[in-house]
Amino acid sequence: MKSSKSVRDYIRTIADFPHEGILFRDVTTLFADPRGFRMAIDQMLHPYVGERIDKVVGLEARGLILGGAIAHQLGIGFVPIRKKGKLPGTTISQDYKLEYGEAIVEIHDDAILPGENVLVVDDLLATGGTAEAGIKLLERLGANIVGCAFIVDLPELGGRKLLEKLGMDVHALCE
Ligand code: 5GP
Repeated sequence: MKSSKSVRDYIRTIADFPHEGILFRDVTTLFADPRGFRMAIDQMLHPYVGERIDKVVGLEARGLILGGAIAHQLGIGFVPIRKKGKLPGTTISQDYKLEYGEAIVEIHDDAILPGENVLVVDDLLATGGTAEAGIKLLERLGANIVGCAFIVDLPELGGRKLLEKLGMDVHALCE
């Protein structure tokens, strides 16, 4: 019998991680299931079928896993945006605010050519701060951002509104 499970059914919620009071949406259970993982990759790609995309850009950490699979499926290259100090070559950096404090993300300065069409991917959109920092890096390199694709959007945290204000096309598989 064919299963009618949707992507959201494979996501597990863990209470009080990483802090008390936080409900963490754990996508490792989705990634671990062959049907769930393939469904997520196919659905993330779906809005962009027929569009010219030159590179997929994944945001650390789970965006690296998704981005690699999506780039492979499209037969194009993959570019990581990583936390400060992880990339070996010459980088440009962008800081952004976290709930407590600040963080810095980086991209190799030669990873994207001006005018290249890129798709940005991550597992979850909350406040949008992480994606906004990635977008700023990509815009500094002259990328044309075709869209931002996520598995989960937490709309009450405002990330989608923020990214749409920046002119982004935002897609998420579930809320
Ligand atoms: P934002 O910057 O939009 O506030 O937070 C999104 C970033 O934090 C993403 O890179 C995402 O991986 C991570 N994140 C925040 N909360 C969760 C969560 O509940 N589940 C998962 N899987 N990632 C989260």
